[in-house]
Amino acid sequence: MTRYADFHRRSIEDRDGFWAEQAALIDWQVPFDQVCDYSNPPFARWFPGGRTNLCHNAVDRHLKDRAAQNALIFVSTETNQERVYSFAELHAEVQRMAASLQALGVKQGDRVLIYMPMIPEAAFAMLACTRIGAIHSVVFGGFASVSLASRIDDAEPTVIVSADAGSRGGKVVAYKPLLDEAISLAAHKPAKVLMVNRGLVPFTPVAGRDEDYAALREQHRHTEVPCTWVDSTHPSYTLYTSGTTGKPKGVQRDTGGYAVALAASMKHIFCGNAGETYFSTSDIGWVVGHSYIIYGPLIAGMATIMYEGLPIRPDAAIWWSLVEKYKVTVMFSAPTAVRVLKKQDPAALKKHDLSSLRALFLAGEPLDEPTAKWIAEALGKPIIDNYWQTETGWPILTICNGVEQAPSKFGSPGKAVYGYNVQLLDESTGEALTEPNQKGVVAIEGPLPPGCMQTVWRDDERFVKTYWSSVPGKMVYSTFDWGIKDEDGYFFILGRTDDVINVAGHRLGTREIEESISSHPAVAEVAVVGVADTLKGQVAVAFAVLKDPSLAATEADAKALEASVMKVVDEQLGAVARPARVRFVSVLPKTRSGKLLRRAIQAVCEGRDPGDLTTMEDPAALQQVKDLVGG
Ligand code: AMP
Repeated sequence: MTRYADFHRRSIEDRDGFWAEQAALIDWQVPFDQVCDYSNPPFARWFPGGRTNLCHNAVDRHLKDRAAQNALIFVSTETNQERVYSFAELHAEVQRMAASLQALGVKQGDRVLIYMPMIPEAAFAMLACTRIGAIHSVVFGGFASVSLASRIDDAEPTVIVSADAGSRGGKVVAYKPLLDEAISLAAHKPAKVLMVNRGLVPFTPVAGRDEDYAALREQHRHTEVPCTWVDSTHPSYTLYTSGTTGKPKGVQRDTGGYAVALAASMKHIFCGNAGETYFSTSDIGWVVGHSYIIYGPLIAGMATIMYEGLPIRPDAAIWWSLVEKYKVTVMFSAPTAVRVLKKQDPAALKKHDLSSLRALFLAGEPLDEPTAKWIAEALGKPIIDNYWQTETGWPILTICNGVEQAPSKFGSPGKAVYGYNVQLLDESTGEALTEPNQKGVVAIEGPLPPGCMQTVWRDDERFVKTYWSSVPGKMVYSTFDWGIKDEDGYFFILGRTDDVINVAGHRLGTREIEESISSHPAVAEVAVVGVADTLKGQVAVAFAVLKDPSLAATEADAKALEASVMKVVDEQLGAVARPARVRFVSVLPKTRSGKLLRRAIQAVCEGRDPGDLTTMEDPAALQQVKDLVGG
């Protein structure tokens, strides 16, 4: 047996022994009594009895040995700022933010919603929350008022931390009007809004509600806020993600299990060492940003780069210039970003000294072979694909080079990661598929390892129903991805089993987009599907039936209507959810029982055979789609 196979086997067969060892990678104020309490499946309680604090592990515990070392490196090519915070400075800033939140009434267990661009104050706010036992809920800055309002209502935050504006590609995006609109739409009203004013757009504070962070920070310049030790199972944060239904789910994460899982992943997967620099190009609004911009690298005592800007501005060498300047050893990005870079001058990669870099990790969407080959060749470094989800918080499938060096296979994120008992299940019978190369649903046997979601925020029933009840007769966690496993144990991910699409590594529910489009006064009915795209992996394409078909009678009318539908999505959900095309049809392909045939529409859009259509009510409906997409 190889070293890794043995390591993985032990993590499953001697689960408690294995994770007790990993738990020594973090500081505990009070040791745990038990490693894993799985007496009430599928709810796993990791390290019960133990008390710890995420912020302590990410910041305070490094003060002894590395107070002057770089901790947070902020680079904005949008506002041309660059600022480096040592661990001591980060510690001071986090306390100022924590004191400000406390001054606004935030207590342990309260929620704080963070709606921020990629600026240091966003990191301070996250760490300040976990420092005082408040539960943060970061909402991606690209989301607009309706998306934000639904998250405000679900999280019911005491305070919202926000900023006047973000900036993308040199274009200022005002956040404040979106936030004000979201709060007016939401039933829950936060007591206070803490505003970071970057001076990008003028705004009028709401009297009695909006507080200026600069003023509060100044007041609390020297206030000390000790870490609040919390139970290992105390929720550290919630993060919303899309699923089959329109309502986003609040993925709830614990404290101790998450800290241990991240510390272990930094060692066994990312091979990052204290004193080095980690550069993840994600955004704090996504799970990669939580785990591998903020908590993972800092827990490991690494400096982390927080980058606001595009990968190709001012030019395609910007990321590599940061690798050289800060001697980045570990980098994490997404295939979409690499596909963007691929279109640029390849010389950009050769302009800088990349000798510090050991590997580039990619995740979030399928890594296609041409992209993987191009970047591997251009960089001359190992490219390590890793597959996981918001729900798990850290990789499910990858190559664990920290345990044993192993080759990658193109098209495969790798093998099951330690702690995960990954199975492929037959969709209809729930039987585990034991022969190689059989297609099944990627599932994980409970308990989920430390760091994975505890439950859906305030909705245990939805957690059980959504994730653990999709396979007949068996309580097993479904990832909602199709996969196969080859004879060497390498998995290949074949796409989602549900109506979730993945646009440029961003997970979107087609139902959410459909709901938004349906609110357009001209639209009677709509189907949204994900269609393969060479740059973004997938794009959303909408097919809408109009209440009055004459509204799209001419090409110019249809174009104008398409733009106005897109505007509705932009305003409600944000530009991330905007479909690439909105096409108008007189009828949608449905089964005789009225179920939308999204898969058939998707197949036609991608030029594939739509399969068995015997249950279709009106074959002319699919023909209309074919005619529109030129199939
Ligand atoms: P998210 O929760 O936004 O991270 O999205 C998770 C989903 O993205 C997974 O369920 C997969 O469908 C997809 N995904 C993430 N990483 C990969 C990968 N390395 N290869 C293929 N699909 C991936």
